[in-house]
Amino acid sequence: MEALNTELSLLKESLSLTKVMGNIPVIHSDTTHCICTVCFAELIIEKAKTRKIFSVVYGALKVRETVKKCPVCKQVYRSEHLPEIVQAGCNYAYDCIVEAGRLRFIDKRQISEIQHIFNAGYGLNISQTQIRRMCYSFLRYLGRFHYHSSEQINHTFKNQGGHILYVDSTCEGRGVHLLTCIDGLSGYVLYSKKIKSENNEDLQTAFTKVKNMFGTPLCCVHDMGNGINKALDIVFQGVMRVICHFHLLRDIGNDLLKDLYRSVQKSLSKHAIYAGIRYQTIALEKAAGNRKKAEDLFFSFFDTCSNNTDFHDTI
Ligand SMILES: [Zn+2]
Repeated sequence: MEALNTELSLLKESLSLTKVMGNIPVIHSDTTHCICTVCFAELIIEKAKTRKIFSVVYGALKVRETVKKCPVCKQVYRSEHLPEIVQAGCNYAYDCIVEAGRLRFIDKRQISEIQHIFNAGYGLNISQTQIRRMCYSFLRYLGRFHYHSSEQINHTFKNQGGHILYVDSTCEGRGVHLLTCIDGLSGYVLYSKKIKSENNEDLQTAFTKVKNMFGTPLCCVHDMGNGINKALDIVFQGVMRVICHFHLLRDIGNDLLKDLYRSVQKSLSKHAIYAGIRYQTIALEKAAGNRKKAEDLFFSFFDTCSNNTDFHDTI
């Protein structure tokens, strides 16, 4: 098994172009045009430049691009293939940005972990600052891709018979609010924006953008906040409105049970029962293996008890 692992790691290392070729390999990427497409004159070489590029698939490599120019109409011809791999003026290929974003936001890796994966897995030594930048670039490209796909998203909405707009914003302390608009049927996040507060102006601007991109929804689902209510009234006039069940129950719960809840909280705290429960919870999580297993065990115990009449007789 150990020999196999060594073989595999040697094979993986040998796949890097840099390892195979010794120094960083130089790849040529030139335009395929020899004749000007406008005036049919023979192209001349304007300049040749070499860029160092880092790629997940190819490793570190140098790309030499010959830029041509029409001597008559001055039209410039660049490589057609290079812009598909890397953005102009950037050293990190699009596949690095995708991999960094995937590791950060899907696998939920820390920046230092991503740096290690790039180094050990792809032979690329990239600084943490650069990895952080690539993660932001990933989000920026993802956002642009999302908005450019609005036509396909609308096509999905048409096929499913329309969409239901769920709206809410959240914030930490006095920080900015993160407004999010979701389609309740497909689960697609349609729009997300940082706003200073749930003020009418920002909300109206945001909802108008959603309306322009994805049309009028069948129904809007929201909480009981004044800001969101007023802005929806203006932008989606006449559209059916539903108050979110969770927010409604929480509000009613506050009105009916808030004082009772506080007194139970105080009582538990006063008799150090909170600390006892926490101690038992940690012990159960440790015995079960993790929090999820402990929760499953806890609720299956109560399910058993609720189906067992002997248990009810004993309490
Ligand atoms: Zn020309």
